[in-house]
Amino acid sequence: MSYNFFLTPIEYLKGVGPKRAEILRKELNIHTFQDLLQYYPYRYIDRSRFFKVNEINSDSAYIQLKGNISNIRIIGKGRGQRMTARFTDNTGNIELVWFQGIQWIQDKFKADKEYIVFGKPSLFNRRYNMPHPEIEEATNEDMAVHETLQPFYSTTEKLKSKGLGNKSIGKITKTLVLRAKGEIKETLSDNILHKLKLISREEALLNIHFPTNTSILSKAQARLKFEELFFIQLEMLRSKIDRNQKIKGHTFSKVGDYLNKFYKHKIPFDLTNAQKRVIKEIRADMGSGLQMNRLLQGDVGSGKTLVALMNMLITLDNGFQACLMAPTEVLANQHFKTVSKMLESLNININLLTGSTKTAQRKVIHSELQNGELQILIGTHALIEDTVQFKNLGLVVIDEQHRFGVVQRAKLWKKNIIPPHVLVMTATPIPRTLAMTFYGDLEFSVIDELPPGRKPVKTYHYYDSKRLKLFGFIRKQIEEGRQIYIVYPLIQESETLDLKDLQDGYDSITREFPLPKYAISVVHGKMKAADKDFEMQRFIKGETQIMISTTVIEVGIDVPNASVMVIENAERFGLSQLHQLRGRVGRGADQSYCILMTDYKLTAEGKTRMETMVRSNDGFEIAEVDLKLRGPGDITGTQQSGIVDLKIANLIKDEKILKFARDIANQILDEDPDLTKAENSRIKKHALQLSKNKANWGLIS
Ligand code: ADP
Ligand code: MG
Repeated sequence: MSYNFFLTPIEYLKGVGPKRAEILRKELNIHTFQDLLQYYPYRYIDRSRFFKVNEINSDSAYIQLKGNISNIRIIGKGRGQRMTARFTDNTGNIELVWFQGIQWIQDKFKADKEYIVFGKPSLFNRRYNMPHPEIEEATNEDMAVHETLQPFYSTTEKLKSKGLGNKSIGKITKTLVLRAKGEIKETLSDNILHKLKLISREEALLNIHFPTNTSILSKAQARLKFEELFFIQLEMLRSKIDRNQKIKGHTFSKVGDYLNKFYKHKIPFDLTNAQKRVIKEIRADMGSGLQMNRLLQGDVGSGKTLVALMNMLITLDNGFQACLMAPTEVLANQHFKTVSKMLESLNININLLTGSTKTAQRKVIHSELQNGELQILIGTHALIEDTVQFKNLGLVVIDEQHRFGVVQRAKLWKKNIIPPHVLVMTATPIPRTLAMTFYGDLEFSVIDELPPGRKPVKTYHYYDSKRLKLFGFIRKQIEEGRQIYIVYPLIQESETLDLKDLQDGYDSITREFPLPKYAISVVHGKMKAADKDFEMQRFIKGETQIMISTTVIEVGIDVPNASVMVIENAERFGLSQLHQLRGRVGRGADQSYCILMTDYKLTAEGKTRMETMVRSNDGFEIAEVDLKLRGPGDITGTQQSGIVDLKIANLIKDEKILKFARDIANQILDEDPDLTKAENSRIKKHALQLSKNKANWGLIS
């Protein structure tokens, strides 16, 4: 049985044994033969020839050189520390550089030995150097030119210390690949293989490790990438179909008094076309008899709250309750206040439930929820506690959903026998490829238009030396009646340090902007909820001109008169966070500004982030850059998914394959939703196998 073969524990592979198996498990999460077989090389090096130092030019890709290593030196201190060495062959020399792992490399090389060095030369100060090269002692065997493409496996210091460097991993993989021949079963249908001209799974797995030429390597990569993305898409689409078949939804067929009255008398402005379109999409969903699971994406300030509010009113019109969950108390408070105000005189019972709601009040809320008197509940995580029971919950709105985990969202489902409709909203734009993968089983709405009259926020990047200029600017804005945010980073590991930053900042700002002329609010995570709210309210009411805070104000906060966002130590924030923070201004009709303050010392990536912010106001563009800089694993909210833990496909580079995979998965499920046809039997079998191996991440909301 082939599956038994692949599930064999890795220690039984020749050359591994219990000790190495343990370290493979710990370091690389390789438990079985199958895991090792799918531990693909991250790079291949053309070993068909040795290059000479004097041949290196700006087009040089990954190359191999042969020669001696000398003059090993450690330069600099702290973060700027690096190690350099001189590499010499009979045509010249080039500098090798390491920025990490210095201790380990330091005493490795001997002056009289010959080494083979692999890497990609790069130009620095008009000279070529080679950062982080791979180095092997040149043995006689290496001198002969052998395999054309040599695989490189990533490894760790721990693995290396147990004799599992790149070469040894290659060796055990070779053993495995030879044994696996004849055992590797096809997972795709003949139809797909034929149509897309894909090579067989066996051929692909053999050649991904030990390709004989570049053409077969790209075929192997294409095949495995397709397979990987195809099965993810299939799972997504299947769980969507499954849910639609199994889970009935409440049918909201009516538009009644609440919505009509609000629309005729209370709505403070004309809806944008995008808002109208999205409301229609949501209404169609909620009237379909199926349960809605929709992701509403809209850039900061695009007016998602109003859309949510109108859908809550439709819910009430159909005799159901609605709730709105926000990730922070500050935001929940704000929502409670805006919603209550907008619905004033419509005679709707609305309440707020957060961690700091008093017990007596809590009891009232619980009982009113159960007897149905309470129609709209707004709050934080407190909403998902088991004690919160609704009489008839029809709609759950989750604001800034990237802040919530899968489990928390799933809990809200269970608050009614027939699950409520679910609308999750996010302003953190997700690149399309990620959305297709991460949210592939949700319906998708986008508000791609800002309310009229908004002027794009002007963004500047100042070094600390321009602080006086900054103060002057702030003073001028306050004189014009505007309000200012000054935000300090918050790093979870060290809240005390951050409070110190904030405290120092506060001291210098109060010196610059003293009472009685200026009043300042401070909000940070360590404050009691009531104090936070008090300070927020002072700022909202315009009693204070400056709001100094940590990122607790990052999401959702809406004070239209605030026109300047100063972000201190902006280099410590990720792009999506910077964009969110900037979204706190530019909400009124006045020209708004975002000022990014940084130190002179910026990493290349930090510079790119600042430049991107200065150049672009477009959340989607920013998200694309973010994805490129950080990779999908770091994009907010995706860590928990496990989906982005791809073995070979790359969500940035393989967008085309991804779309292909999704289309084909769609076609197949259209024709054969349960995969019962003979031609799809392999696909079905593999999909089942995969879902057994994984937690069911298909159901994410
Ligand atoms: P977000 O999508 O970031 O949650 P909000 O819902 O907080 O945005 O809305 C941002 C601001 O725009 C609010 O002050 C809101 O009252 C206002 N707004 C919403 N829709 C419109 C509209 N159609 N026309 C004008 N202003 C609007
Ligand atoms: Mg919002």
